[in-house]
Amino acid sequence: MPDGAAEITGFHAHVYYDSSTRGIAAQLRAELEAGFDVTLGRWRDEPVGPHPKSMYQVAFSPELFGRVVPWLMLNHRELDVLIHPSTDQDVADHSDRALWLGGRLSLNLDFLRNLEAKAQKGPTGSNP
Ligand code: ZN
Repeated sequence: MPDGAAEITGFHAHVYYDSSTRGIAAQLRAELEAGFDVTLGRWRDEPVGPHPKSMYQVAFSPELFGRVVPWLMLNHRELDVLIHPSTDQDVADHSDRALWLGGRLSLNLDFLRNLEAKAQKGPTGSNP
């Protein structure tokens, strides 16, 4: 197995929408729920974390990648979708390692950099 492949514990697809595409996002969400064993996050109408616009998250196992991602490729309509692996390296997962369908949005990677910096300091924050 190539280096790094074993570190992926799952995948997220983040489906972005706005007020004019929310209905399409709802249709896509219903189809995902009906067709796949995915875990749907709640609607996030306000930007949250690194995400610059409204979205919901779709979490799925590595075993489902070959079914969910091709389906999204054919069915995402005009929605922009970020697909990223979940390892313990959030910044890389959301940048170099990410796939995009539709347009590529500019994520707030500083948010994730700050999280990683905090995690490295540990809970006490006493390490240099
Ligand atoms: Zn994610």
